[in-house]
Amino acid sequence: MTTRRDFLQKLSIGIGAVTLLPTSSKASIFSIPSGNEKKLRVALMGLGGYANIVAKAMKTCKRAVLTGIVTGTPSKIPVWKSNYGIADKNIYSYETLHTIADNSDIDVVYITTPNSLHYKHVLQVAATGKHIICEKPLADNAQQAGEMIAACKKAGVKFFVGYRLHFQPHTREIIRMREAGEFGKIMHVNNYMGFKIGDPSQWRLKKGLAGGGAMMDVGIYALNGARYATGEEPLWVTAQETKTDPVKFAEVDETITFQLGFPSGAIASCGTTYNFNNYERFYLIGDKGFAELSPAFGYGPIKGRTHLGKMPQQDVIHQAAQMDGLADCILKDTPDPNMTGEEGLKDMIVIDAVYESIRRGSEKIYLPAQTTL
Ligand code: NAD
Repeated sequence: MTTRRDFLQKLSIGIGAVTLLPTSSKASIFSIPSGNEKKLRVALMGLGGYANIVAKAMKTCKRAVLTGIVTGTPSKIPVWKSNYGIADKNIYSYETLHTIADNSDIDVVYITTPNSLHYKHVLQVAATGKHIICEKPLADNAQQAGEMIAACKKAGVKFFVGYRLHFQPHTREIIRMREAGEFGKIMHVNNYMGFKIGDPSQWRLKKGLAGGGAMMDVGIYALNGARYATGEEPLWVTAQETKTDPVKFAEVDETITFQLGFPSGAIASCGTTYNFNNYERFYLIGDKGFAELSPAFGYGPIKGRTHLGKMPQQDVIHQAAQMDGLADCILKDTPDPNMTGEEGLKDMIVIDAVYESIRRGSEKIYLPAQTTL
């Protein structure tokens, strides 16, 4: 039987080389381009659904430009060449990826492959010396995420997680208000994110490619949201799983509810599913006010209200705002702690604990104070 001490011990071995700094949203991520500033040159790796969304969004970017692709499917190349003007010398396969090291047209590789390939792909790209943006979830577990961060540090490359919502105006305003004390003491957070998944043969339902189910894919938004709603790292986690279709969800989780307890005493009650739609909300309650976003985590338009009334923010193209923001972080060497690999690791630590709690019949799993790990 695994004990709580075993869990904590495994955790600290896995991420032992990594120092986790407190999360903050205060770093400046937006700057006004002068027109002739250098742009961040990006290669997308894994040209699936999300890479297409990022590439289209980047056409509207001021500070980032798509210059390269990495694909294992040669039939995709002509379309990407014609849509985005990618030069032949900037097109790579997974086998030729190592030669990207010598390409001065590419600053960063943005990894948008299935979850369980992130670990291998980050290590491969780090070895080329290119900076990295990696999609969520960062890895299959905290141990892998810690190794990825360590490999990037050793290679001297910057490493970011693709958390687009940290660049989204409503989300940023709520974080600003919380930091300014406008909600008072945070008492409760109630976040959920899920959808009814289709095609039973897709990689998202295969543990070997997805790492897990709804929790890894979209529950991570509810979790990350609970962390930016409180500005704290959880001290304990409890979780429960329900499965209505054990055939379709034989390998991964279908519906999970989880609860987080924070050092201040705030509690988050969260949920995620692959089994129904219209499950998307962020709700923060403080002793002086509240904030609600619904929709909260998808591509938008995000809508919100607080105790002051309807939020006036205009939504943006999330991926364009993210890529312009990350261009600033990389080109100006001002890494925002909310976007770095460490932020992705912090979520993986909690996700590990969610699964551990479920394995142990919803037992309360205590986490070490993350800033001192
Ligand atoms: P997808 O299936 O549409 O695309 C995955 C791509 O990876 C495909 O082009 C596929 O050919 C390629 N690939 C390379 N090796 C593969 C292999 N061994 N098996 C299967 N595919 C392989 O998936 P997606 O929806 O684009 O998701 C990709 C990543 O992006 C995931 O990690 C997902 O969590 C993330 N994502 C993030 C957001 C967001 O809002 N941040 C949204 C969607 C997806």
